[in-house]
Amino acid sequence: MEDLKLPILAIERLRMMTDGEGVTTLICSMNCPLRCRLCINPYTWDGTKASEVLSVDGLYERVKIDNLYFQTTGGGLTFGGGEPLVHSKFHAAFMEKYQSTGWAFNLESSLQAPFENLERVIPYISCYAIDVKDMEPERYREYTGGDFQVFFDNLMKLKDRVEEDKIILKIPKIPYLHKGDEQKENEEKLRKLGFSNIVLFNYVDPKKRKKLSETALENRGKLITE
Ligand code: SF4
Repeated sequence: MEDLKLPILAIERLRMMTDGEGVTTLICSMNCPLRCRLCINPYTWDGTKASEVLSVDGLYERVKIDNLYFQTTGGGLTFGGGEPLVHSKFHAAFMEKYQSTGWAFNLESSLQAPFENLERVIPYISCYAIDVKDMEPERYREYTGGDFQVFFDNLMKLKDRVEEDKIILKIPKIPYLHKGDEQKENEEKLRKLGFSNIVLFNYVDPKKRKKLSETALENRGKLITE
């Protein structure tokens, strides 16, 4: 097997009912192709600044401590970031190897990746928490630096391939971007497309943003393939 490694920012244990069933552990991996203007986690942008780099077995060793919680609550692992689809080969290999644990595997993603990256993890994921940002292409680009069409095409392909109740769409109201009814309009567009599992929330401006590294800025809007 390819020697796959996952650079991570943090591992957050004992989350309750925030992403899928039961108790979960969030694996927050490095790298994100987006550059949201109010990014909550700009540390993830520069993959060279990981706090740890783990192998497939190394990640298992780090998270197995909560096996009993996962087993008794129907919980498991949530792969987030950054953008976890940047590391889809790693995640697919991990889930393939450890699916016999019976743990649930969830994905928190902005879907800003080539479809093949998403397709690779679909066989293993129980719950998709999708970060919508915006449904208006120009506003999406202005806020994230990314390509709305990539997000949208992936979302519709995901809808075709998995049961709708596995997909949770998270629609933020972003302080400077959404001053009127934009959040509601985004929700209506998604309902018309056939989605019903929708969560609206107020996005809190992370006040203490660090100066962005040169590497992070150079990667603005680039799709990262594997
Ligand atoms: S999707 Fe946006 S908010 Fe999330 S890590 Fe990437 S740039 Fe930051």
